[in-house]
Amino acid sequence: MFYVETKGELARAMPDSECCIISELAAIARSCGRLESGQNHCESGKVFEISTESAAVARKIMAFVRTVFCVKPKVRFADRRCGLPGNQYIVELPCDISAFETLQDIGVISQRRGGASLRNGVPWPLLSRQCCLRAYLRGVFLSRGYVQNPEKEYHMEFITDSLIHAEGIVRIAESFNVMPKITERKKGYMVYVKGGDDVAQLLRVMGAHSAVLTLESVRVLRGVRGDVNRVVNCETANVTKAVDAGLAQITAIRKIDEIIGLGSLSPGLQEIAELRLTNPEMTLRELGQALSPPISKSAVNHRMRRLTYLAQRLDGEPG
Ligand SMILES: [Zn+2]
Repeated sequence: MFYVETKGELARAMPDSECCIISELAAIARSCGRLESGQNHCESGKVFEISTESAAVARKIMAFVRTVFCVKPKVRFADRRCGLPGNQYIVELPCDISAFETLQDIGVISQRRGGASLRNGVPWPLLSRQCCLRAYLRGVFLSRGYVQNPEKEYHMEFITDSLIHAEGIVRIAESFNVMPKITERKKGYMVYVKGGDDVAQLLRVMGAHSAVLTLESVRVLRGVRGDVNRVVNCETANVTKAVDAGLAQITAIRKIDEIIGLGSLSPGLQEIAELRLTNPEMTLRELGQALSPPISKSAVNHRMRRLTYLAQRLDGEPG
């Protein structure tokens, strides 16, 4: 499955620099983290949770938390019986004062009167480098992103709960020359792109190189299939046209033969009329080449028009 493979590829890719680890973790924590509302930094011992349905993403989150928070997080598994939409791995970060400050530093939560809450928008101060913009987008995709199988449709989306965050995701994509759209969903907002170029570019930006290769080979196949169909349709149309024209010429020639006889035609017309009768499938060019000396396609065409005109006159049709 294209989506599962893409997500797996991105979950396994570990960023080289700490700046990118922080950016990607910030995106994941912002997208699928949970903080008890009203909590403030004095109440230590509480927990910040990040949940994901993917084991590979859970492993990545744990590695990130170890690097950024210098603690070994706990992970628990929850299934549908816990009231969740599906199976979830929940990474728990004990939220003491220093962890709380780190969560603020990396732009995941903000402290307000009455407690702390998840930040609304994208934490721009973290994302001054291009590598970090890529990492942030990857984090959002791993949390709540989706890509359609390119054999069905070119479509990639990122779901988020706030419009400000959705607009931030659009700005990040725009910095890589992709212009996504935003649409409102029942719960939150969807940032999405359609079109092979845009989907391929965002996969490239996030570092899903195998996925890009898969998508490009599907595009080539789809392109080749389209070209073949176009050529076949076009050739069929041309052949049909040629056959129809040939049949009309034969009808005209037979009429002339019936009424006045082909022998009464000028030698040039008689020659082409006899050749056409015995070769109904030939194109005008082929007819011209079969004469000796050969004549051009337009010369054949000219003679055929004279024959058709003569048949119409003999038949009493208005010419
Ligand atoms: Zn970076």
